Amino acid sequence: MEDIFVWAEIKELREKIAYHEKLYYEKAQPEISDFQFDKLVQQLKKLEEEYPQYKEISSPTARVGSDISHDSTVIEHKERMYSLDNAYSFEEIKTFLNKISPNIPEVTLEHKIDGFSVNLFYDNGDLQYATTRGNGFEGEIITANVKTINSIPQKIKYQKPIEIRGEIFLPISEFERINSEREKKLLNKFANPRNAAAGTIKLKNSSEVAKRKLDSMIYSVGFCEEKLINSQTELVTFLEHNKFKISHEIIATKQFEEIEQYCNHWEKERSNLSFEIDGIVIKVNDRRLQKKLGFTSKSPKWAIAYKFKAEEKTTELLDVKFQVGRTGAITPVAILKPVFVAGTTVSRATLHNQDEINRLDIHFHDQVVIIKSGEIIPKIIRVESHSRSAEAEKVIFPTNCPVCNAPLQKEDEGVISYCNNLNCQAQLYQRIKHFASRDAVDIDGLGDALVKQLIEKEIINSIEDIYQIDYRKVIILEKQAEKSVDNLKKAIEKSKTQKFHKILFGLGIRYVGAKTSTLLTQKFSDIDKLMSASVEELMQVDEIGEKIAESIHEFFGNEKNIKMIENLKELGLNFQSEEMVTNNILDGKTFLFTGSLEKFTRSEAKEMVENNGGKTLSAISKNLNYLVAGKKAGSKLAKAEKIPTIEIISEERFLEMIKQGK
Ligand code: AMP
Ligand code: ZN
Repeated sequence: MEDIFVWAEIKELREKIAYHEKLYYEKAQPEISDFQFDKLVQQLKKLEEEYPQYKEISSPTARVGSDISHDSTVIEHKERMYSLDNAYSFEEIKTFLNKISPNIPEVTLEHKIDGFSVNLFYDNGDLQYATTRGNGFEGEIITANVKTINSIPQKIKYQKPIEIRGEIFLPISEFERINSEREKKLLNKFANPRNAAAGTIKLKNSSEVAKRKLDSMIYSVGFCEEKLINSQTELVTFLEHNKFKISHEIIATKQFEEIEQYCNHWEKERSNLSFEIDGIVIKVNDRRLQKKLGFTSKSPKWAIAYKFKAEEKTTELLDVKFQVGRTGAITPVAILKPVFVAGTTVSRATLHNQDEINRLDIHFHDQVVIIKSGEIIPKIIRVESHSRSAEAEKVIFPTNCPVCNAPLQKEDEGVISYCNNLNCQAQLYQRIKHFASRDAVDIDGLGDALVKQLIEKEIINSIEDIYQIDYRKVIILEKQAEKSVDNLKKAIEKSKTQKFHKILFGLGIRYVGAKTSTLLTQKFSDIDKLMSASVEELMQVDEIGEKIAESIHEFFGNEKNIKMIENLKELGLNFQSEEMVTNNILDGKTFLFTGSLEKFTRSEAKEMVENNGGKTLSAISKNLNYLVAGKKAGSKLAKAEKIPTIEIISEERFLEMIKQGK
């Protein structure tokens, strides 16, 4: 490969990895699976080995992914915290062991707990502080939250200064309890126990943390003045003696077959544990040998993690529902016999489209194999066709809409089937739900069940009808008390005055999400301007490409949509941006907010800046024009003071700047 291409590829991989590290460690909201992530790192490692001229100490292959979030306080570790190298096959374990010595040294085998690593510092037998792994050199302080964990002792027998290390995790039962509570409160559910644990440990309010019963497993010692222990096995005894929770499944062996057996055993049995493990850690037992082997910049040379494959589970396909979306797109959804996979109970999985159904050759009541792709979204990877009964019926994609029976049409390069009947009740239901949703015009009280009834009883047949409801009919509907009908009326009235971008988003134009709507209303200050814009003009808006522009153009070219907008206008809905939106008083100036703000929240501040043509930055740099410092501003203020081109201003001054523009 030509050097320039290698460099470009290395750079791209590093950026990609950094992006996913941030999602995983800092935000606890990964988009890809650990396996996919590890694959990226391996790819990068291979390239760096082939082209050592591009090795860098800041490369993700040479450093630990950082979990430190912006406004946090850190403490330096007395001894570094490392990551672990991974092995995906027994072959790789063998290579690892052979490098150490031709005769396999004694190793310990233990669970690799899928949690969040913690560093506990004790002195005089008291827990002094607890920190995260951070970037390996320093970690974020999480003492108050760690003190809520019952299995972590606040007093230990050992009196000298010592760093103790282990994993914090959420037991699966606790994870499920939290998620079902979040579901009731309509909050986003956590994708898996690890994310839930990582999200919990960073909460600001420790009494909230105490309610979620975090647990711990301790497996290592960092800094310690004395030479306390000679082996991993002794270490475990020491930890247990000091009342730490340790794993009772740790074994020591010199036999390769035993390593294989242990790994295979737990790969199968892991679903019977009360917490999640994602592999087995193999460590050289003898501490002297560990010392001799030392570390790379990222991980010990005396340990390796054997990673399990993504967990697969087999279950029965009970049914397939063909759902009609708001744009008429038909999505096949597999209804499954509930099964527990990678941290959650799965009872549905999308089958995407016709191509996917063909690929799987799926039949009703097939045994299907599920994984969680990205450990988040359930996916059917294959069907066990050999166990299928002879009379099993093949799943066939319908040719007509399952709700209104209109013939379906293929679009999007023939992959997606659409019901293009604008009067289709299923689409109407989705469209009304979308229109009334929080990010759109936000009509409180217009819930799913009510929308369904209103459509069935033909009280509403279109979006406009929401504003022409005959409330006498609503009162007659089951369970609708007069009071709640009154509230509904008020909420509907209020929705007319929503901001233009929310109303535009509510119209449900294909590919136009909340963000695109905002961008559009910044460029086009009223609906008439937007409706008469050409595809080229639309494409001048940031982030709008041809596909989106064409979809918008087509939407506004449709007679029915034009009529709907005219009606909505007459009914008094707001189709105009506020003055402020087109104001450019801050014209490209950059802002950063720090400290505790009293006059507005951070997200309001961001909106104010953007509405006035400015931009917000997330870190101090030479590109910054204004630092708005609230009370207790800390390190960012200190940094900004060193850069003379940054103007440091108060909240009041910021508000004045904006008012002047009005
Ligand atoms: P990684 O998350 O890929 O960097 O893997 C390294 C991490 O595995 C360590 O930082 C620990 O937090 C975690 N870990 C879980 N169980 C163990 C264990 N038994 N021994 C060592 N590390 C473990
Ligand atoms: Zn239909």
